Amino acid sequence: MRKLLIAANWKMYKTPIESTAFLTSFYPLIKQNTQAEILLCPAMTSLAALIDAARSRSVFIGAQNMHWKNEGAFTGETSPVMLTAIGATHVLIGHSERRQYFNETDTTVNLKLKAALAHSLIPIVCVGEKLEEREADLTANVLELQTSIALEGIDPAIAAPIVFAYEPVWAIGTGRTATPEIAAEAHKLIRAQIAKSLTPTLAASIRILYGGSVKPDNAKSLCCLEDIDGALVGGASLDPQSFADIVQNATAR
Ligand code: PEP
Repeated sequence: MRKLLIAANWKMYKTPIESTAFLTSFYPLIKQNTQAEILLCPAMTSLAALIDAARSRSVFIGAQNMHWKNEGAFTGETSPVMLTAIGATHVLIGHSERRQYFNETDTTVNLKLKAALAHSLIPIVCVGEKLEEREADLTANVLELQTSIALEGIDPAIAAPIVFAYEPVWAIGTGRTATPEIAAEAHKLIRAQIAKSLTPTLAASIRILYGGSVKPDNAKSLCCLEDIDGALVGGASLDPQSFADIVQNATAR
């Protein structure tokens, strides 16, 4: 059984005080939840404070990015060793904003995925097509390529923790959401590629989240689909009530 995962990507929003204040308001709203794992990915500067505040609460805290090396002369970067040292459990890899603005490629995604697994961080690998790729009927090619390069050289014996997120770039922060049919088809393609790159058993157990303008009112229709194992939420995760409503609606399957 694949347990639902509902993850918040706060991007470059919230100071440490704002991040812990969010948790104070949010946690009572979702405390009864047992059906989904909940993950908050704050900015790097809020990570330690939020991890401290979340101790003994059933909320996971992860990073939005990391370098693949343990240490080195890489100004401005954060290593997997540094993330695990403060208690981060998850890391987003290859978010489309990282690919678009910071030159991340499928190759660096692959390096980061290997590093996350080596350090027991749960990686959430983001894949998704741009609008022009969808319009040129290239969605399947893009998803297969991004997924297969991400998984290149990954030993199936250690691949079980991997999570994918299907995030069509045209749906991120735009208010446009993939229809449940579009999302379901993309998730099937990604799962089929995982089966080819790893094993059919892993393809059946690895979670694939949907991300792209998830809001309280569409969370149920997206998360009730068989192949969709949760959501990666940007804008609508910044407000405690809105994110709690997403958790509530997504788990009312
Ligand atoms: C995201 O940042 O991963 C995302 C899906 O953003 P939004 O929900 O705002 O579209």
